[in-house]
Amino acid sequence: MTTPAFPVATIVGYPRIGRRRELKKAIEAYWAGKTSLSELELTAHELRNFTRERLVELGLGRTDASIPETFSFYDQVLDVTAAIGAVPPRFAGFEGLDLYFTLARGVGDIAPLEMTKWFDTNYHYLVPEIGPDTAFALSSRRVIDQFLEAKAAGFVTRPTLVGPVTYLLLSKAAEGAPADFNPVDRLDDVVAVYAQILAELADAGAPWVQLDEPGLVTDNIDIPAAAVTDAVKRAYDVLTSGKRPAILVTSAFGALRDNFAALAASNVEAIHVDLVHGAQPAAADGLATKTLVGGVIDGHNIWRADLGAKFDQLEALRALGAAQVTAATATSLQHVPHDTADEKWQDAELDANLHAWLAFADQKVVEVVTLARGLVQGREAIADEISASQEALASRAAANGVQVASVRERTAALSESDFHRGTYADRAAAQEEKLNLPPLPTTTIGSFPQTIDIRRARAAHARGELSTADYESAMRDEIKRVIELQESIGLDVLVHGEAERNDMVQYFAELLDGFAVTTNGWVQSYGSRCTRPSILWGDVSRPEPMTVRWATYAQSLTEKPVKGMLTGPVTIMAWSFVRDDIPLGDTANQLGLALRDEVNDLEAAGIGIIQVDEPALRELLPLRREDQQAYLDWSVGSFRLSTAGVRPETQIHTHLCYSEFGEVIGAIDGLDADVTSIEAARSKMEIVPELSEAGYARGVGPGVYDIHSPRVPSVEEVTELVELAADGVPGNLLWINPDCGLKTRGYAETVPSLEHLVAATRAVREKI
Ligand code: GLN
Ligand code: ZN
Repeated sequence: MTTPAFPVATIVGYPRIGRRRELKKAIEAYWAGKTSLSELELTAHELRNFTRERLVELGLGRTDASIPETFSFYDQVLDVTAAIGAVPPRFAGFEGLDLYFTLARGVGDIAPLEMTKWFDTNYHYLVPEIGPDTAFALSSRRVIDQFLEAKAAGFVTRPTLVGPVTYLLLSKAAEGAPADFNPVDRLDDVVAVYAQILAELADAGAPWVQLDEPGLVTDNIDIPAAAVTDAVKRAYDVLTSGKRPAILVTSAFGALRDNFAALAASNVEAIHVDLVHGAQPAAADGLATKTLVGGVIDGHNIWRADLGAKFDQLEALRALGAAQVTAATATSLQHVPHDTADEKWQDAELDANLHAWLAFADQKVVEVVTLARGLVQGREAIADEISASQEALASRAAANGVQVASVRERTAALSESDFHRGTYADRAAAQEEKLNLPPLPTTTIGSFPQTIDIRRARAAHARGELSTADYESAMRDEIKRVIELQESIGLDVLVHGEAERNDMVQYFAELLDGFAVTTNGWVQSYGSRCTRPSILWGDVSRPEPMTVRWATYAQSLTEKPVKGMLTGPVTIMAWSFVRDDIPLGDTANQLGLALRDEVNDLEAAGIGIIQVDEPALRELLPLRREDQQAYLDWSVGSFRLSTAGVRPETQIHTHLCYSEFGEVIGAIDGLDADVTSIEAARSKMEIVPELSEAGYARGVGPGVYDIHSPRVPSVEEVTELVELAADGVPGNLLWINPDCGLKTRGYAETVPSLEHLVAATRAVREKI
């Protein structure tokens, strides 16, 4: 086979939800039964063609396979599950796109595939369930059809699939599989179907195919690195031996390490390396005949690049002796918004600055194309673009607000004692005396249902149709309602309900200095769900209190304690685009101090219990084990900084959810909160013994009510969970609460569920 030339500029992937979330709207309309399947297919078809045209406009080639086909109706891992027919038996009877969406969302009693985080991003994929008997067969031809669709429109694009090794590394063993079974055991069978897809793509005329193997950069808990490298060799041995397009294997999110040499020694034609998150690979045998695709433009953050430094990286890559070096993004651009041109910031200076400093997906494509031109024509040819990029960076470094002396002085003056409170024994005694709570105190995690009225009021206020005074009075009415409701249900520690918050991060980003928020900067979180991360561009400080008047208003309405409610520094960072010009730990301390001011102000205003939520604590954990301790040090430190300024009798709570906390269980203890509430209902309290084994011996509120579905748990069910928790936690340390906030729920299910929670707690209290 003669290898077709690899395009000198390419990207690993592109956002697929649409500039105005067209795909989200089309999918949700289809789910709601408002449109037909053919209407949905038509919208998707138009979106794909629009994307291809746009990428050509930005400088990628129309017919040189530089455009990757990365459209997905829901998730790229689910796309492979559908393509190879790895469908668990409970989904028998479904077909086509309805099978696809049912795998993603479930229906009736049929549970969907589990969803989990895609590497260290906020994107979530659907976890395949693979067992010893899973039957694999080519079951969806979408990847081939989309190539043909592009061809019919005059493009030659590059079909893209998650690669077989990563697919199986990301899978979980199907229920009933033997304990020693690992999905990777099925590699040969899965690869056989991939080989069939590759043969069909070759028949369809695809010169290149892209197989994404980001799984090769992480440390796997169950599989030793050598076994992963072995799987790479076996898979690509088979895949390169049949009829096929030329193969590009991409990595992303880190260095390939030993897997790089394995790929270099294989017969794949091109290897992509992530030079943003990983170091330059070492020379390896076999490179002389290959294309090395230098992933130098960050696909995971939104800053404009220093093109000079990026070009240097590409030149260094050339020294490895590959047949060709080309330019690309480090990861798919699915993790950044479409286009900075869609934003207009109200403050003129900030607007000019951010437009000069930021690169969203479209700007990044242009950066790649520019670097590629330099590779072909020489550095001189892009000298102007290099200087423009460096000037933008210099202006960023010098701009107002990027380095604020008072903030820097404060973080520089921090000392060890700022991170510590007194002993827990002293705190517990002081808190018991002050709060005088019953055993097994009941509470909620913070938010109450965000009703249509609340959303309408917020939208009307944003449009200027509702005055600030009227908006705030509507929010106060809501708080009053929520306080009265909690009193009537009989909860012990109340919350104000978070009605005034559009989002638990954006709310704070709007009030802190150093942040900007976007209007159209949507990024897919999972399926049709998108988030709009805030942009943390400068040194962080708190110009004025952010939550105090809402909390004190709520407290004024009741004799019971009202918990103050804040989002923690790590979660604010995890759900924002963070700056890349100072260490993350420095930003974390700036946030820690800003929140510390808020915590102290809440205390001074008479709020005796303050919760600082860190649901994303696990989320930023680095993928490689050797980097994890440093992360845990600064993340835990910033939480402690935010909470250690209070008196012993003020009770600090934290809340964690969304993930398996196994790897960070020691860090949970390190937060040193007086009470930790944590998701636990679905796992039937698994976390309770894990926490105590890890030495955690302060208050704990394992969730006894799964808030992820509208189902109302019965009193018996909740009682069972409360008893299970009471077996593992002494009565004076056990709190009873739901798994998470109630903002996505309706009142119809919230009220009876909380009533059952209180009834169950009262029953158990009598027994202990
Ligand atoms: N206090 C927040 C709420 O109740 C916590 C949300 C979360 O953990 N994601 O909504
Ligand atoms: Zn939560």
